[in-house]
Amino acid sequence: MSKDPDYLDYNGLKIDPLIFTQGFVPACDLSICGGRCCHWGVNVDKPHVDVIMQYEDKIKEVMDKHQPKDSSEWFEKESHEDEDFPSGYAIGTEVFVSPQGLEKCVFNDSIGRCSIQVMAVENGMHKWAIKPKYCIMYPLTIVDNVLTCDLDHAERLDYCGTSHPENYTRTVFESTTEELKHIIGEEGYNFLNDHYIKHYKSKNIYSKESEEKI
Ligand code: SF4
Repeated sequence: MSKDPDYLDYNGLKIDPLIFTQGFVPACDLSICGGRCCHWGVNVDKPHVDVIMQYEDKIKEVMDKHQPKDSSEWFEKESHEDEDFPSGYAIGTEVFVSPQGLEKCVFNDSIGRCSIQVMAVENGMHKWAIKPKYCIMYPLTIVDNVLTCDLDHAERLDYCGTSHPENYTRTVFESTTEELKHIIGEEGYNFLNDHYIKHYKSKNIYSKESEEKI
């Protein structure tokens, strides 16, 4: 990623101003997209695999009959170096082929839900308690210590993707209030929101603000 002098800095994390201008849909809606952003799996901080595996049996309980129950098939065998993860190493979730012939993350169920999140909710935990960080963040991502929009995924997605601007009603920043507060805290969110109001809000071209569906 090339250096951009317009990046903001928050506690050492660089912020790409693209998050203030890139459009997004009113809300993630599995009834429309089926959770397609999950079809490639996700990279997980290496120690976080052990956290997820502490809930192995409970996750199996909420998986549908087609998802692989053999947990040796849930994660790649080898980790790889990645400085964007706290341990410096990441491991990918594996994919499987659904009855519809779609490759998708092993944790993605038949109606597009994440079994890790479903398990958490059904067991009284916060919905994101053990969900991989980069899944929580989407359509945001962090690449080379820059908080930005995940255009790699967005270019491949129907409904919310970059080839469907007709579906956009607001910016990625406006769509990810809860996610940003979770990732960089309330103070970090307020810092970004002040910047957004001062420099971007009046120029927002996505004026069709609408109700969230979820
Ligand atoms: S872990 Fe859950 S949210 Fe992340 S890609 Fe897999 S199914 Fe989707």
